[in-house]
Amino acid sequence: MGQTLPVHSGLVEHLRSVVGAAHVLADPETRAGYETDWTRRFSGRAVAVVRPGSPAEVAAVVGACRSAGVGVVPQGGNTGLVGGGVPGPDPAVVVSTGRLDRLGPLDAAAQQVTVGAGVTLARLQAAARAGGLAFPVDLAARDSATVGGMVATNAGGLHVLRYGSTRAQVVGLEAVLADGSVISRLSGLVKDNTGYDLSQLMVGSEGTLGIVTAARLRLVPEPTGRVVALVGVGSTVAAVDLVRTVRRSAEGLSAAEVIYGDGLALVCEHAGLPAPLRRRWPVYVVLEAVGGDPTEELFSALAGAGADDDATAVAADPAGAERLWAYRERQPEAVAALGVPHKLDVTLPAARLADFEAEVRRVVAATAPGATTWIWGHLGDGNLHVNVIGPDPADEAVDAAVLELVAAFDGSISAEHGIGRAKAAWLHLSRSPAERAAMRAIKSALDPDGVLNPGVLLA
Ligand SMILES: Cc1cc2nc3c(=O)[nH]c(=O)nc-3n(C[C@H](O)[C@H](O)[C@H](O)COP(=O)(O)OP(=O)(O)OC[C@H]3O[C@@H](n4cnc5c(N)ncnc54)[C@H](O)[C@@H]3O)c2cc1C
Repeated sequence: MGQTLPVHSGLVEHLRSVVGAAHVLADPETRAGYETDWTRRFSGRAVAVVRPGSPAEVAAVVGACRSAGVGVVPQGGNTGLVGGGVPGPDPAVVVSTGRLDRLGPLDAAAQQVTVGAGVTLARLQAAARAGGLAFPVDLAARDSATVGGMVATNAGGLHVLRYGSTRAQVVGLEAVLADGSVISRLSGLVKDNTGYDLSQLMVGSEGTLGIVTAARLRLVPEPTGRVVALVGVGSTVAAVDLVRTVRRSAEGLSAAEVIYGDGLALVCEHAGLPAPLRRRWPVYVVLEAVGGDPTEELFSALAGAGADDDATAVAADPAGAERLWAYRERQPEAVAALGVPHKLDVTLPAARLADFEAEVRRVVAATAPGATTWIWGHLGDGNLHVNVIGPDPADEAVDAAVLELVAAFDGSISAEHGIGRAKAAWLHLSRSPAERAAMRAIKSALDPDGVLNPGVLLA
């Protein structure tokens, strides 16, 4: 117990009595992995990491922390990229959802499933597939990211242009509020107009309004066919044009991603992959289509868009598709291997995306000479991930410059990762005073003591 701050030792003892001593991690070695986020840019001190096994235990943990005046930070897979799942400047209790891992039977009639907040995306996807269905949200962190974290951040990912983000898949939620009460809308009713939609209020709230303990999720039929193409083009303008043209004729288009020549070369070096095409291109677009005969449909759409055979690699088998996806999906880890990234996940109006891409490189070079800029993203959604390597993790000059540029281009400072701690100081760039006041009023009404994720989203 020498490891616990004396002021918190009573709280830690109480938490042990609530969830069992085995589920309270208080020594520095076991806490460490929960105290620093995936990027290594954000970290804080956990009073303890608590692993409750039921909503009642979550409620008791929240109650104990509220009485002790200690903040609660919900954490799922800790793959969030904006520092929202780790403590901030004040020590807090991390509530890890790993034991809320019940995966209910598939409801084939409703095409839905009820899933514990701690279930990983990969486990949910595998269970849906085994029943001939699919959970349509997908992202590269699937082996660690949890349903609770995806709901809390309204995760987007690779298939938003076809199926929407996590929000569109949520039929209802179960969540523990700051006062310890539990709200539960898990009956699966698709039509339910009985007042405020509290489940949707929780979606994207980043653990500031409640701790999600389970979700009732929509599933879709498992696609019968899938084809992936990687296409080299000469510029961002050409990439945007290609996606616009293909989208018009390929009804089954389910992903349209962008990577740049330098990023692709970095992934090849980092992961030991061969170059995908005979020659190098400045920009690459990864397209995926699903349906009855997606290969024919995608080929004819690409021909219509004037894509050159020599500039295109196609795979319709699962192993080949995975190989092509690796050039896009391994960008984050390849860049993180270079240093601690400043990650700026933003959306732009489609018509201004290419101008922004050129301008942001100039702005970063002017703000942080010597820094390197790496860009990839979900082109079909206007969503670019701008990653800057070089500036000290605590230096926010480049963050400010990029986010202000996004606002000048009428974009959003967060496309899909949320605001977290990383962007809380810039929320005003995307939300008006009236919107921020309404958000604060909701927060004060549901969490008057500010116990849930203090400092996240609303600084
Ligand atoms: C390689 C890589 C690729 C990624 N690709 C994408 C992508 O394509 N699209 C995308 O949207 N994101 C992506 N992400 C970001 C991340 O995977 C998502 O934000 C994901 O939803 C986080 O899930 P998690 O369980 O890891 O949440 P955590 O990181 O643990 O938490 C994230 C936020 O949710 C809150 N939270 C977690 N669980 C709960 C809960 N049960 N109740 C209430 N609040 C909770 C936390 O407090 C925190 O604010 C990627 C990350 C990595 C590392």
